[in-house]
Amino acid sequence: MVISRPRGTNDFLPEASAKWQAVEALLRFLCRNYGFGEIRTPIFEETELFSRGVGNTTDIVQKEMYTFTDSGGRSVTLRPENTAGACRAYVENKLYGLPQPVKLYYMGPMFRYERPQAGRYRQFHQFGIEIIGSSAPTADAEAIGFAWDFYNRLGIRDLRLALNSVGCPDCRPAYREALRDFFRPHLGELCPSCQDRFERNPLRILDCKSPVCHKIGEGAPQIYDYLCPDCAGHFETVKGLLQAADIPYVLDPHMVRGLDYYTKTAFEIAVDRIGAQSAVCGGGRYDGLIQEIGGEPCPGVGFALGMERIFSALAAQDDTIETDDELDVYIITAGGQAAKAAAFALATRLRAAELSVELEYGEKSFKAQIKAANRLNA
Ligand code: ATP
Ligand code: MG
Repeated sequence: MVISRPRGTNDFLPEASAKWQAVEALLRFLCRNYGFGEIRTPIFEETELFSRGVGNTTDIVQKEMYTFTDSGGRSVTLRPENTAGACRAYVENKLYGLPQPVKLYYMGPMFRYERPQAGRYRQFHQFGIEIIGSSAPTADAEAIGFAWDFYNRLGIRDLRLALNSVGCPDCRPAYREALRDFFRPHLGELCPSCQDRFERNPLRILDCKSPVCHKIGEGAPQIYDYLCPDCAGHFETVKGLLQAADIPYVLDPHMVRGLDYYTKTAFEIAVDRIGAQSAVCGGGRYDGLIQEIGGEPCPGVGFALGMERIFSALAAQDDTIETDDELDVYIITAGGQAAKAAAFALATRLRAAELSVELEYGEKSFKAQIKAANRLNA
């Protein structure tokens, strides 16, 4: 029996990988541009990092994690996202001792047990940045501006930047109560998950994908009427910074994002053309996260973007990434093993001189070799 790859995963063949590498090169270039250094954290972490960091009331923790017990009896989880891991590493490696803020980026595979469909996989890839150790609105604006800059450089059109503030532990309780008052008369109509969310975290109801809950939520109170002066002022400053840099946004008062750790700024970038899975990037401020995972209180802001969805967005506008994979030299041989040895020696020298070189391994006719060379654009 032929073994196939697990549901919701992909094999990226060389032609596709070349395009990924081009996108990754642009991202690394931008990271130098904006002053971010790469962090590489483990693909698996202690389960508790995510249950505490991402939040027990989130879909990710409740239904989407790949959690297992290892042979040593520890509960470990394949990372569903990388912000919690980056923050754990910040604390564990005492990066708070460096000049602040610390600006980190990562790229790599993430794992979520979801229903696979176009643009939604069980192993998918994210690029993300984290600015840790600054509570300044400029950090929020820089994170948003980075993502905006990236998609524009790629030439992706019809981008929509949705912006919101989700408040802080000072102002959210009053908003939560207002949401409960609003949803209480509709409690029976909400989906079973939202009935549970009603008590645990009514903000989550606003993020529900069920059409019924979504429809009911449309009339829900907006957080703007509940923000404390600090959150309101922060929000105004972020908006002003975006305006100053000509980054267009739309306010989305019900966007709460799928992770519990956000405070103040929350944002999402979508490309509506690519269908149901239209969110290409999501992020925000997470001033409570580091304390939540056991560090000293420390503010942070960042985003994660889906790599696969970049390619859906490009495909939807009939674009692709140009890659430079042309061959410099194709060595044609005629004359048996002696010619092969000479060709092999020549290939070695040319490759050392940084040319890309192919040579025919077998015994093809001269004509067939010319054809192969042409096919490879040598
Ligand atoms: P969605 O609402 O689409 O489930 P999310 O809110 O769960 O997204 P985040 O956790 O904020 O997404 O992740 C940031 C980005 O990573 C998303 O905007 C999306 O582009 C990408 N992403 C998230 N989950 C997946 C997945 N299962 N497959 C492919 N890309 C994903
Ligand atoms: Mg999700």
